[in-house]
Amino acid sequence: MMKQTTLFFAILILITLGCRHKSDTSSSIETTIVKMDGELEAIEDSVKKANAFALQAQIKRVVTPKAQTQPVNAATGEDAADDPAIWYNEENPSESRILGTDKKSGLALYNLKGELVSFNPAGKVNNVDLRYNFKLANRSIAIAVASERISNGLVAFEVTADSLISLLDSPSLMDTTIIDDAYGCCMYYSRRKDTFYAFICGKNGNIQQIKITEKSGKVNTTVVRTITLSSQCEGMVADDEEGILYVAEEGKAIWKMSAEEDADNQMTMLANSDSTNVNITYDLEGLDIYYAGNNKGYLIGSVQGNFSYAIFEKEGDNRYLGNFIIKSNNSIDGVEETDGLTVTNMALGGDFPSGLLVVQDGFNTENGIDKPQNFKLIDWADIANQYETILNTSPQFMWWKH
Ligand code: CA
Ligand code: CA
Ligand code: CA
Ligand code: CA
Repeated sequence: MMKQTTLFFAILILITLGCRHKSDTSSSIETTIVKMDGELEAIEDSVKKANAFALQAQIKRVVTPKAQTQPVNAATGEDAADDPAIWYNEENPSESRILGTDKKSGLALYNLKGELVSFNPAGKVNNVDLRYNFKLANRSIAIAVASERISNGLVAFEVTADSLISLLDSPSLMDTTIIDDAYGCCMYYSRRKDTFYAFICGKNGNIQQIKITEKSGKVNTTVVRTITLSSQCEGMVADDEEGILYVAEEGKAIWKMSAEEDADNQMTMLANSDSTNVNITYDLEGLDIYYAGNNKGYLIGSVQGNFSYAIFEKEGDNRYLGNFIIKSNNSIDGVEETDGLTVTNMALGGDFPSGLLVVQDGFNTENGIDKPQNFKLIDWADIANQYETILNTSPQFMWWKH
């Protein structure tokens, strides 16, 4: 059985490499890689890992990390770190913070050097996202919302430079007949309705939109919409400027649809986001948006099957701009099999003058020795420099102040 699997992947690599075009914007060639349900991740499967490294070597845009967080408090080889979010500190940008989920135990808060500032043991926190200017008890706070898998619910936090303060006495529970496992999670602020929302998706491909309001000084949640995909999804991001929700169906493609609660569920598949693009090898995972102002920007998605990231334009028909990879800078290891990722366009000073990308690292190593997972920090300018059409000067567009 093992020999057959090895042979299968060896043939697969040959077919895939043989089909590859020189330009990574080409999209006409079908690869034969398909997602099989219940498949192991590369962290658990050495053949899959070798296959992904071989495919990764074909991608020519390379950047390196500038910093990394300390490892999560989990065993080496355990899939524990998952999804990050960035909190922009308007008063002191260099003291901005990174939130990182540990899907075995809770939510961590790191500074830009990667040091742990605070930890909230909120349970099996899977995905996290945040928004600014949420009104609570006559204060304006940054609110983070996350999916929590012990309770199959949603948890919420007030984000400050020092801590993550729980806003709910207990998780807001999902209906298990619709959401089988609170897995993916992102937030949305509707400018049209001046209302905050979370989207939670289950492993069964069902997504629920949840309105988040204040009620008597407390956070209140109400399910307002259900969306159904045909298979497992996790990575999601909402574009607050345009009112669009993007969802990565892990073994299929990236979809876009209206993020408004009263919209129909009509969705469009992004061209070049499926396996007709040689640079897309499943799973598709974390998604986030770099806002560039005037409705322009970039949608970034983790492509786990070749340890890379795909970039699409935010505007219009989401033109595909190509993939990049993150390799070692000698002192910090490269990044493999990213689950969640997050990006900001804001200048954070120091190593991140025009924005920051944070990605989960599936295989964290130190001097070649395996360590528990962590998150890597990448200077946006290094990514922009790899693309002709991406400017490396940040527009410093405060997308949340609209
Ligand atoms: Ca996230
Ligand atoms: Ca996943
Ligand atoms: Ca690594
Ligand atoms: Ca993983």
